[in-house]
Amino acid sequence: MVNEKLILDGSRVASAVKEDLKPRVDKLNESGITPCLATILVGNDPSSATYVKMKGNACERLGILSKKIELAENTTTEELLKTIQSLNEDEGVHGILLQHPVPSQIDERAAFEAIAIEKDVDGVTSLGFGQTSLGFGTYPSCTPAAILEIMDYYELPIEGKHAVVIGRSPILGKPVSMMLLNRNATVTTCHSYTENLENIVRNADIVVAAVGKPNFVKGSWIKEGAMVLDAGYNKGNIGDVDYEECLKPASAITPVPGGVGPVTISMLLRQTVEAAEKLI
Ligand code: NAP
Repeated sequence: MVNEKLILDGSRVASAVKEDLKPRVDKLNESGITPCLATILVGNDPSSATYVKMKGNACERLGILSKKIELAENTTTEELLKTIQSLNEDEGVHGILLQHPVPSQIDERAAFEAIAIEKDVDGVTSLGFGQTSLGFGTYPSCTPAAILEIMDYYELPIEGKHAVVIGRSPILGKPVSMMLLNRNATVTTCHSYTENLENIVRNADIVVAAVGKPNFVKGSWIKEGAMVLDAGYNKGNIGDVDYEECLKPASAITPVPGGVGPVTISMLLRQTVEAAEKLI
């Protein structure tokens, strides 16, 4: 059990992940392979453009090629599917990331499903989710992977603990619930129809907030000594957890910014490198 309060420093975890990746990228280079992540940005959403830019920069800093594809706001599903298909067939591309949300005329699920499983380094396909859920997935969704990476880095106990996940989205709440279950936590997944949410959270040893609402989780909901992982990222760099309040009862907590976010990007880098390594 954790004896003193831990501020879970995501930047530190991300640095450790990237340090580990450097020699692996060098080894790939020696074999004539430059890992390459293709990012697809559809439309003009400024936040999405910023996220894609951050991911591209992180790739380049590590020697991973970043192939940026920008498509117009009025792109159709068919056009996007064609782009994805050509990236699937491109031997120089090892991972594909479709930044979401995409404009509303596009069938986002169809677009995700079009990504070849061996290039689904962002863990968005239903096949990838199914494999992750069954415990043999190669590339889990990056934010859930980041949450587990942080817990493992700080050697936080998972087995036998009651984990309460708030949120059930396909890229976050659901996969992190399955990953915690696979690590022998007892998992309760909450959502907008959950009754008595506060009382459920009060029973949690591990709280994962993936709601998309600033400062949603209150300090009075947190059991003394609980571990709090905040995946939320809202306007103004605000998490889903009221950090100042939850810091008091928690034994370990991620800040926002500087918690789950930087580790998420490092998971994307790692999974891209792993996809390239499969070629050796
Ligand atoms: P999402 O698709 O909007 O899902 C939000 C989830 O929260 C839904 O399952 C929803 O329930 C649930 N919810 C909404 N209001 C609730 C309430 N009052 N009580 C209980 N549950 C409630 O969001 P997401 O994509 O999972 O993202 C969640 C947060 O994580 C956002 O802040 C996002 O910015 C952040 N995020 C961070 C990263 C990162 O790298 N750090 C990556 C992705 C997302 P229903 O299913 O019933 O609607």
